Amino acid sequence: MNKDLLVEHKRAINILKMLKHSPPRVLIIEGGLCYDRLEIGKYWCALVNCPMDPGPCFECKLCKGVLNENFPDMAILDGGEGSIKIEQVRIIHRDRDILPREGKYRTFLFNESQNLTLQAANSLLKVLEEPKDKNLFVLLVPQRTLLLPTIISRSFILTLKWKTRQIQDETIKGIIKGLLNFWMTGKGLFNILKGKKVDKDLVKEVIFFLQKSIIDSICGDTISDITQFFKKNINSHNFWNVTYVLDQSCLMLDTNLSGEDIFYWMALNLYSILKLN
Ligand SMILES: [Zn+2]
Repeated sequence: MNKDLLVEHKRAINILKMLKHSPPRVLIIEGGLCYDRLEIGKYWCALVNCPMDPGPCFECKLCKGVLNENFPDMAILDGGEGSIKIEQVRIIHRDRDILPREGKYRTFLFNESQNLTLQAANSLLKVLEEPKDKNLFVLLVPQRTLLLPTIISRSFILTLKWKTRQIQDETIKGIIKGLLNFWMTGKGLFNILKGKKVDKDLVKEVIFFLQKSIIDSICGDTISDITQFFKKNINSHNFWNVTYVLDQSCLMLDTNLSGEDIFYWMALNLYSILKLN
């Protein structure tokens, strides 16, 4: 487990520790970044299951299994790879009485759970309405309002802090301005990074900033040019595609691709999605 992440989200971790002995059946983890949410979700699974006290120890077979996503009582349904479909939720419903094999609870993590299809979300709601059993559900989502209100009302909500760094950095400001211009006019893409030292950290900051701006635009905080642009151009038809491109760009940062390649891939893909409006 990334220790920096645990320090950064100390408040959230402390709340989870308090919930450990009487875990809520449904936990929504919102805020932060996609990566943070998934890691905190796995932390939760280790916390409620690790036999050590106080856990999680990150050393035992169970903790290691959770961290490596190779723990028989944990399933990850990943909306980051496409929509989460009703068939997947039906299997959970069918198998809801199966007892945990190694841990205390079976834990179902719904990553990027805003990508549950409506049918799947309604089916999940039925599962959540069942009486408490040995199953725990964790919905990871940028912002709770992207889920059904009926699901939200049944859940304990944990809000991770956003990376709140404002863009005081002139370089990032310039890049965002350049992107906006490119998306609106289709011109100037290759001028955006001209004269700038582009490493993956910089690209990561740009992606984070765009992700946060999209959430701001959904929540009605449309004070900047970029949030106003997103508010105007992102709708229920293309929202999934836009978040998908940004999530994929984030994942690419861990590959051998250069920061510039990832940046251009993201900029062009978002352009092709947004210009269809
Ligand atoms: Zn452990």
